[in-house]
Amino acid sequence: MSQKVRHVLGISGGKDSAALAIYMKDNYPELDIEYYSSDTGKELEETYELIRNLESYLGKKIHILRGAENSEHEAFDHFLKQYSGYLPSSQARWCTKKLKLEPFERFIGNDLVISYVGIRGDEEREGYISKKSNIQSIFPFRQNIWSEDVVAKFLSNSSIPMIQSWISEGVVEVDDEFISLIDLPISPKFPQNRKASLLLNADVKSFNNLVFRFLQSTSYPLAQLSSFPLVENKDVLVKKDIFSILRNSGVGVPKYYEEMEFEVNGQVGHYSRSRSGCYFCFFQQKIEWVWLLEQHPELYTKAIAYEKEGYAWNERETLTELMQPERVQQIKADYIKREAAKKLTTHSMFLLDILDDSNEEEGCAACFI
Ligand code: SF4
Repeated sequence: MSQKVRHVLGISGGKDSAALAIYMKDNYPELDIEYYSSDTGKELEETYELIRNLESYLGKKIHILRGAENSEHEAFDHFLKQYSGYLPSSQARWCTKKLKLEPFERFIGNDLVISYVGIRGDEEREGYISKKSNIQSIFPFRQNIWSEDVVAKFLSNSSIPMIQSWISEGVVEVDDEFISLIDLPISPKFPQNRKASLLLNADVKSFNNLVFRFLQSTSYPLAQLSSFPLVENKDVLVKKDIFSILRNSGVGVPKYYEEMEFEVNGQVGHYSRSRSGCYFCFFQQKIEWVWLLEQHPELYTKAIAYEKEGYAWNERETLTELMQPERVQQIKADYIKREAAKKLTTHSMFLLDILDDSNEEEGCAACFI
């Protein structure tokens, strides 16, 4: 007898996961999705507003997951004490583990779970893949909805005879081009991602149906389902689609994405926050710290209060140093220069790497479970 499978979708407070929740409700109402959000207690008010708006659009409660639930302190502060005041950083991300991953794993337990993740079709990253075998990630906004581990197993050379036999049995109807691509073995000259992309471009629905057939012979959660509507999915959604979904649904775009104008040395620039998460997140760019200082000065002051001798949010300067007027001017001027260079050098990834001290995609991986 097949086991029950839960469908879950994590709301990070950012635009992509919010748009995915709306997209799934609109396009796959037959899936009984449980929505959750991990609350660190240190999010911007805009995030809580987004969650309230989503709840009314979805007509469902979003489960709020918290670490240290029985503590008298807010979760982040509770664990900060446990870590002897040692602030999290990209090298020591205890916050992700304690505030996001562990509460999520408690929420899931040992249940079989399909987790829908809002990585867009115009992003180059793979996203977080759970190490727990009872959790399977699906990426509805991408042409390739499957996680890398699934594709690697499906396209391994040893699977070719099995796929050929399904095609001859008529599991899917494919043309000769598709068959000849299936027959080609993976090699250093013909890597797995190349094969996957050629097959997807040739016939995305057949590719998905064959992967689904393949999964039936594995212990992945999807093996428990007799059908899965997303195998018919051909959509690829990029950034502008995400904003349209949020605006058209009435849920709205979180205010912190709105570009605000600033002026420095007679030049005009625009800044906003590029991601959700804790207001003091160490992943934010310098210009985002300036945004926080100017748009939410009370939160900037709170972030300063966490910095103690030897413990700072940024490696090279404290927030007190960063907020000095000359430093703020310099950050703004550098940012304007960088943005202008980006426009001129869209083809030079090398230069972009040098100029760009961060990017939108980097962040709290657990937001994308
Ligand atoms: S948003 Fe940043 S600070 Fe907050 S839990 Fe995630 S990585 Fe840590």
